[in-house]
Formats: sequence, structure tokens, C-alpha cells
Amino acid sequence: MRTVKAYAAPSATEPLVATTIQRREPGPHDVVIDIAYAGICHSDIHTVRGDWGPQHYPLTVGHEIAGTVTEIGSEVTRYQVGDLVGVGCMVNSCRECANCAAGQEQYCLNGNVGTYASVDRDGTITQGGYSTHVVVDEDFVLRIPESIPFEKVAPLLCAGITTYSPLRHWNVGPGMKVAVIGLGGLGHMGVKLAHAMGAEVTVLSQSLRKKDDGLAMGADHYYATSDSATFETLKNQFDVILNTVSAPLDVDAYVGLLTLDGTMVNVGAPPEPVSVHLFSIFTNRRSIAGSSIGGIAETQEMLDFCAEHGVAPETELISADQINEAWERVLASDVRFRFVIDIATLGQ
Ligand SMILES: [Zn+2]
Ligand SMILES: [Zn+2]
Repeated sequence: MRTVKAYAAPSATEPLVATTIQRREPGPHDVVIDIAYAGICHSDIHTVRGDWGPQHYPLTVGHEIAGTVTEIGSEVTRYQVGDLVGVGCMVNSCRECANCAAGQEQYCLNGNVGTYASVDRDGTITQGGYSTHVVVDEDFVLRIPESIPFEKVAPLLCAGITTYSPLRHWNVGPGMKVAVIGLGGLGHMGVKLAHAMGAEVTVLSQSLRKKDDGLAMGADHYYATSDSATFETLKNQFDVILNTVSAPLDVDAYVGLLTLDGTMVNVGAPPEPVSVHLFSIFTNRRSIAGSSIGGIAETQEMLDFCAEHGVAPETELISADQINEAWERVLASDVRFRFVIDIATLGQ
């Protein structure tokens, strides 16, 4: 085992602290990554705070990882020392089930191994990217195109693929109308990606506070959902509605905005069940769907798409000693639009 520097949560309720964690010695298929940047995802906070179930502490989170390969195992073929690479929300899966065989490792029927807070194959609890190094099987490592600014790329590994995968699955492209609910970490990527795919994009946000930002990101229209006229104006319009917020919503009101065969796909979800009148979806043969990150091949496709189309997240770079403050700001929705930790400040 190797000891590396990290920021970890001692418990569900205490602030994160600078500490050290253990990484395994690289096996034949592993690459060792010197982490340069780690994005802060709302899931990091939910997990540490125990919102999604009890955890083992101390816990290091972070599943938006960008870094450089510094060592490779003897059987590694796809990466070399010096390559720019990324790691997203998962670091392994069973590789044998039907979903893994279909390249949909995120839906592994035996449960994929999450980048943090998951039981790894050796029985240890995985530790995430708020750390100087990580050791990952090469099959779960992504290649980062050099044209994407390195200090901005990390959020693509979760927020990027979480929004790219459903937009692709529901065939978003020219001639389609897409609405994105919420303009936060996920939503702003949804807007940029749907715009780059050629769709007409509308942001549905609580207020018009971030309207200028949304339009600058490529949105064609921007409506406040606090204004009930919005739901009348936009009735029966959208082919796809991408819901990125985790607050409870009036689902009936939103599906009313879907056109014939339109789909409301949810990537953010409140902890409580939502209710919907099924009559709302009989009209226009509508669908309500969900989606979770994306497979490894699709994640690579997303990175290459972003490079080709000049898409990058809006980020605020912070030092490691600002992580706790950044978490408070995420909880207060006071972030433009994703925090990225400069991991070099953690090694000092
Ligand atoms: Zn995430
Ligand atoms: Zn599987």
C-alpha cells in the first residue's frame, strides 16, 4: 500500500480535514494517476452527510478526476506515463452481465464499483478524488483530449456524462426542442451539450437571475418557472425535458410541456417519491424516464464530442483549504457553475 495526501470527512457531520489515505500497489492492469484537479459534485455532499445511507468514515469523496498517468502496470496497453486522463463515477464493474456486455457498465446488474464509498473487489472501501493520487484499472480510465482546458475538464466526468448520455439516448439534434430544468452544475452542461448537438434549447429556472449566463451558454430561450404563465406559454412544445434539479417538482405541470412522444428524463431526484397523474402522460403519448451517468465508451465519446465542439464546463478553481466553504456554497446554490479543486494545493 502507498500513503497519499487527501481531504477526508471524519464523520457525517464534521468538516473535511487534511489527512492521508492508502492506495493499493498497482496491479498488472492498473494505472497510477497523479491527480491535478477534482470537481465538487453535489453527490459528494449527499454521500458524506449520509443522505443516501450510512457510510464508513473517514471517507474521501470526489468522482470528477483529471490527472496525469505516472505509472502503469505490466499488462496496461491503452495508457502511457504522461498521458492526460480522467476518472468518473465508477472504477470497476462485473464485466460479465448483459448490461456490462452492452457497454452500459453504469447499469451493471451486479452493481458497479463507485469511485468512492463503494466496496472494491479487494473488500476495501473506495476513496475518491480529493486526493493527490488514485490507482484505477485502465478499462475505467478516460483519455482527456488536450484541447479541453485541463483545469476545467474534471466536471465532464460526472456532470458532463450525466447530461450527455440521455441527450444522446433520446436522439437530441437539429430540429428538436429541448428544455433543461435548472441551471446548476448539471443543468449548465445540459444546455451547452444540447446546444452543441444542434437543438433549440430552453432553460426553465426558478427565476431569471441567471438568464444572461444561460443565453451565453447557448440557450435560445429562458423562462422563470415561478411565473405560472410559463406553463401556459410553453404547453405541448418540447421533445425532451431534462430535469437536473433534486428539489420536488410539480411533474404534471412539466410533462404538460411535452409534445407528441416527448420525454421528461430525470437526472436529479428528490429523496421522496414524486407523484404524477397518469392522465398527464396519456396526452401526447408522453414518457417519464430516468438516466444514470453513462458507460465508459460513451464517456469517452462525450469527452471527444466536447473537444470537437469546444464545450467546457464553467468552473471556479479553489484551493484544498477552501473545500468546506465551497460545500456550503454548493448547498446554497452559490456556485458558477462547478467548483474544481486545484489538487496541487493539497500536496503542499
Ligand atoms: Zn457526481
Ligand atoms: Zn455487470
